[in-house]
Amino acid sequence: MMAAIPDPSVGTNTAVAGLESTFADELGALTVPWQGTHAPDPKLLVLNEQLAATLKLDAATLRSEDGVGILSGSTAPAGAKPVAMAYAGHQFGGYAPLLGDGRALLLGELANSDGQRVDLHLKGSGRTPFSRGGDGFAVVGPMLREYLVSEAIHSLGIPTTRALSVVATGQLVRRYGAEPGAVLARVAASHLRVGTFEYAVRQGEVLQPLADYAIARHYPELTGLPVKLESDRYLAFFEAVVEAQASLVARWMLTGFVHGVMNTDNTTISGETIDYGPCAFLDAFDPAAVFSSIDHGGRYAFGNQPAAMKWNLARFAETLLTLIDTTPDDAIAAVSAVLDTFDERYDSHYAAGMSAKLGVAGKLIDRALVDDLLTLMEEHGADWTGSFRALADELRGNSTSLDGLMPRERIEPWLERWRGTLTKHGRGAAETADAMDRVNPLYIPRNHQLDAALRAATDGELAPFEKLLEVVTHPFDRRDEWSDYTTPAPRSFGTTFQTFCGT
Ligand code: AMP
Ligand code: MG
Repeated sequence: MMAAIPDPSVGTNTAVAGLESTFADELGALTVPWQGTHAPDPKLLVLNEQLAATLKLDAATLRSEDGVGILSGSTAPAGAKPVAMAYAGHQFGGYAPLLGDGRALLLGELANSDGQRVDLHLKGSGRTPFSRGGDGFAVVGPMLREYLVSEAIHSLGIPTTRALSVVATGQLVRRYGAEPGAVLARVAASHLRVGTFEYAVRQGEVLQPLADYAIARHYPELTGLPVKLESDRYLAFFEAVVEAQASLVARWMLTGFVHGVMNTDNTTISGETIDYGPCAFLDAFDPAAVFSSIDHGGRYAFGNQPAAMKWNLARFAETLLTLIDTTPDDAIAAVSAVLDTFDERYDSHYAAGMSAKLGVAGKLIDRALVDDLLTLMEEHGADWTGSFRALADELRGNSTSLDGLMPRERIEPWLERWRGTLTKHGRGAAETADAMDRVNPLYIPRNHQLDAALRAATDGELAPFEKLLEVVTHPFDRRDEWSDYTTPAPRSFGTTFQTFCGT
């Protein structure tokens, strides 16, 4: 393999203290000890001070030369055992037996202020044994994109990896031209993916320790259950992941979020959103919306996301069969019964979310009411985010916003049915409108604005990015000076906006 690397555990950089390495220690078969590439001229572009505080990391220290050294991957934290993680994955339906961290490193784990163990991970930190043909690097635009969108998703209350920092490395990286290199530091409940299990099951012995590790870390309540058979625990584990992912994908669907690359290596065991390459938020509602330049068949189109997630969970189930029952047919029957509950779980999360979005108390929304609204929105290309705010305005007697989205004569019969439902539930109009505004965001990362901010940042002008970040991390707080951030892209932006993977 490659040249021997220095032992970081004897290093002197203490800017990030207290890193543990339970994953590397307990599951060494799934890791390769590794170190980042030297960044010639590292500059901190953005630091998430609030997140740093929850990790008990000192912001001033992170901003220091030593701090930036760690966040750029140039130096390893003293006492840490950074590793590249191995995983496999189904990409657009095809199996890749070995992917792994081709441009990323797990620095280690920290205890956050809630007492949870979280991963500290770098992306763009140079080549690893898993790089295949890739250069191991990342560039400023896409790393700031992940930073901003993951923080927006977090602010919307959706489980996600978080962004701690982006450092420009001072090195040019060849992409569509030469672009400034960058390293993102992100924090996650863990980086265990369906793809980690797909890799482990083919290695044999490491599968059960991996499953036990995942259970202890993400579903510890299952370790205390009085299980008759050990295998019940793994079935319960599968069920817990099905539930977490059904809930997650429902939240994406309620928010108009298109993940864009729902490969099994980008599907977490924790139920967090991960990997913000080609994602985008809808402007006009269209179930067939696809933004990723490589998703030619629309496999990961907005409306296909629940089905794509269920498919990924079937691949996950396949990895657990031998832990669940020694008789293959019995194991398949057991996981299938659990997988079959996905649709019901998804529907129930979606219905509860839609009830809240439409101001209907409880979870009693009539699905036809939702479906008919969606049909109208699709027919008129109504802005997803704007429509739910416009409906609340409508209740306040302000019809201008809704009139801008669809013809009154088309929506009026639906509005009458909706008002009828609200009356049945007995809340006042103003109270309902306020409750709706608390769950329907006003500000999301609009593609045209994010695109403009990232272009400016790539050219060294960070102010538009910082402003947009401030806005989308306060998605529900209306401010007059932020009115430009509520509108969909102007016609001049076109309708063929594309996003890109692995950049
Ligand atoms: P992603 O599409 O970002 O989920 O990445 C899929 C796989 O490609 C992972 O194994 C990544 O580590 C790898 N990869 C993506 N970009 C690069 C790159 N520039 N250099 C090396 N590996 C990469
Ligand atoms: Mg990935």
